[in-house]
Amino acid sequence: MIKKEVIVIGAGLAGSEAAWQVANSGVPVKLVEMRPSKSTPAHHTGEFGELVCSNSFGALSPDRAAGLLQKELRIFKSLIVQTADKFAVPAGGALAVDRSKFSTALTEALSNHPLIEIKRFEQLDLPSKENITILATGPLTANELFYKIQAFTGIDACHFFDAASPIIYGDTIDQEIVFKASRYDKGDPAYLNCPMDKNDYIHFRNALIEGEQASLKDFEKESANFFEACLPIEEIARRGVDTMRYGPLKSIGLWNPKWGDLFDRENRLKKRPHAVIQLRKEDLEGKLLNMVGFQTNLKWSEQKRIFRMIPGLEKAEFVRFGVMHRNTFLESPKLLLPTLQFMKRENLFAAGQITGTEGYAAAAAGGLLAGINASLLAKGNKPVSFPSESMIGSLMNFISNKNQILSNQKKNKFQPMPASFGLVPELTKKKKDKRLRYKAYQERATEALNDFKNKLDSCFDKDHLLSKIY
Ligand SMILES: Cc1cc2nc3c(=O)[nH]c(=O)nc-3n(C[C@H](O)[C@H](O)[C@H](O)COP(=O)(O)OP(=O)(O)OC[C@H]3O[C@@H](n4cnc5c(N)ncnc54)[C@H](O)[C@@H]3O)c2cc1C
Repeated sequence: MIKKEVIVIGAGLAGSEAAWQVANSGVPVKLVEMRPSKSTPAHHTGEFGELVCSNSFGALSPDRAAGLLQKELRIFKSLIVQTADKFAVPAGGALAVDRSKFSTALTEALSNHPLIEIKRFEQLDLPSKENITILATGPLTANELFYKIQAFTGIDACHFFDAASPIIYGDTIDQEIVFKASRYDKGDPAYLNCPMDKNDYIHFRNALIEGEQASLKDFEKESANFFEACLPIEEIARRGVDTMRYGPLKSIGLWNPKWGDLFDRENRLKKRPHAVIQLRKEDLEGKLLNMVGFQTNLKWSEQKRIFRMIPGLEKAEFVRFGVMHRNTFLESPKLLLPTLQFMKRENLFAAGQITGTEGYAAAAAGGLLAGINASLLAKGNKPVSFPSESMIGSLMNFISNKNQILSNQKKNKFQPMPASFGLVPELTKKKKDKRLRYKAYQERATEALNDFKNKLDSCFDKDHLLSKIY
């Protein structure tokens, strides 16, 4: 017998949003949070939805990916975004908040809700099968539970540390310079290659070595040391002039037909690049490209400056920068449905950074979807997925879409993803101008989401909608 109450584990951004959505639909919630008696290495308070680093939710304009996500969350009366709006501080074009007022207000709203029971303890295992549960324990999930999740998903499907290369928008690279090829022409030419001559290489290597590093938190240093197999690119550069050329930047077997006859030795020796940076498709259409082997600890501003020295990437725009940090996340395409239910257990949902989304608003979006679906399930309805035209839908579809893991990427595990226009389906009428394109994405998303919400509202028992409480 499935119980009609929902357990939410973790009162961060995702868990707080999830609990709010469930309770507002009339379903009782047990919200379990271990802080303050046990904290994570990054949190400092016992408040819900504590922002562990920046106080910004990203660009406010709905014509930007982060802004569209916020707008969509407002359509669904998101507790996180409405509270952020209430305690916003001036931050240019971004939505930034007074972090202390923000999390105090969240804690109060959740604590005062008649259908939410707050439980302060460390959850040591997944609740038993008859409970509808939302797992929202975030990137710093406590160890005991982390091992239990690994036992449930399989060790390879739940990661402890994230060493990810930058992802760039495919339409911002210089197609005149980069060329398509697979090494030794094996299979389809799946990679885009940025050729580099010796001079460029030396300058690039020096910039990498001298680039300013982001400081690892103390708790991350230990994990980073375990990660010898996946060194940051600047560390590879530091190990020797040619180390990168015998590693991720090797040029052997990569040839641009534009350079003439490969079998003419003289021509080959003259034209062969000194080094090659490879870009691999992150999605099926190639709108997003991953810089192969470029996991890094450089500061984001330095990544932008230094990686734009690569021929063909002078105007590259970055969807996400490279990172090396402690991050518990699931191999979601193998484990989750677009409804955020586990394939293995339909009444267990995951939400937030643990699903492989990145960013505060994205965590809230996961909480919103998991919350809506857990309450649908509790009321005997079928969980839903959001329209793919919306930013919420496209992000959740991305993390849960097995096809996104291309067949030629078997070796590469799934990497977390922030909200991005690279994830939404192409417009039927393509628009070259980026600003017009983003505006069109935004209008299409808003229309699809309003339509979807009207249909969804009819699934809920209106008598129980308590959304006016807040
Ligand atoms: C150090 C760090 C800095 C970051 N900086 C930013 C940033 O500046 N901007 C940005 O957009 N994103 C940032 N992120 C990424 C991400 O957006 C945030 O981590 C965000 O808070 C994720 O939301 P969440 O709800 O998934 O997890 P969290 O907000 O971390 O919430 C998870 C909650 O679960 C609780 N918990 C964990 N294990 C248990 C357990 N066993 N039992 C009970 N409770 C448990 C935790 O105490 C916590 O309250 C950062 C991440 C990290 C780790």
